[in-house]
Amino acid sequence: MTKDTPVIEIRNLHKAYGALEVIKGVDITAHRGDVVSLIGSSGSGKSTILRCANLLEDSQQGDILFKGEPVKWAGQGLDRHPADFNQVLRIRTNLSMVFQQFNLWAHMTILQNVMEAPVTVLGRDRAEVEQAARAYLDKVGISDKCDAYPAQLSGGQQQRAAIARALCMEPEALLFDEPTSALDPELEQEVVRVIKDLASEGRTMMIVTHDMKMAADVSDHVVFLHQGLIEEEGAPDILFKAPKSERLRQFLNSTM
Ligand code: ADP
Ligand code: MG
Repeated sequence: MTKDTPVIEIRNLHKAYGALEVIKGVDITAHRGDVVSLIGSSGSGKSTILRCANLLEDSQQGDILFKGEPVKWAGQGLDRHPADFNQVLRIRTNLSMVFQQFNLWAHMTILQNVMEAPVTVLGRDRAEVEQAARAYLDKVGISDKCDAYPAQLSGGQQQRAAIARALCMEPEALLFDEPTSALDPELEQEVVRVIKDLASEGRTMMIVTHDMKMAADVSDHVVFLHQGLIEEEGAPDILFKAPKSERLRQFLNSTM
């Protein structure tokens, strides 16, 4: 791995669900500190790409490299073969995902939610993890919610807890799948603010979003997907201001 080796490199990715090919040859690269946003209509394949990248889904063809190392496994039996398990663990730890529906554990406090995986999955020292977890909860602005349960928080607070949980894995990159889509507009902004802070700190991130304003504000690179293929991509100030493809123009007109 050299300084120029991308953190995430997706090459010629193909993914089918049964006979339905939903990703048809996609290349995406994120270097350290890059924020890459994926945009496109519902069903264009955005979530599938993120899920393939962190091995929530298998893929049929193409390569996914994490810091230059291929992260594919041999077909079936994901999570069962010990070598696969270690790979999956390494990738999910390093490409930490934040979901649309937060996916917090309802029976655990916010602090426990943030501490759980670093302590039980990674086996890190509990006292050190607690200190880090409290610092991340402070960073996302909910340090007063440590002892609350998810149901006692607003959606925006729950999503910020989910971001703190992802950060507490000390990942190389964060993957966001529509992090603000489940939120009321006034709560969206508190999550957008956290994502902007992370971008300005130089975190490597891939963000699936319907929020074109956020994509324009935080991204180094924007990828517009259409039916499992990249229709257009580029720097946000060019892509949003002077889209070349008619499909992208129509998409932007329908969302902005
Ligand atoms: P997006 O995130 O852009 O809305 P997705 O990646 O979720 O799109 O979906 C891409 C395509 O794959 C869609 O046609 C969707 O219906 C299909 N798809 C997604 N997940 C599954 C699944 N588990 N089984 C079958 N088809 C799926
Ligand atoms: Mg999706």
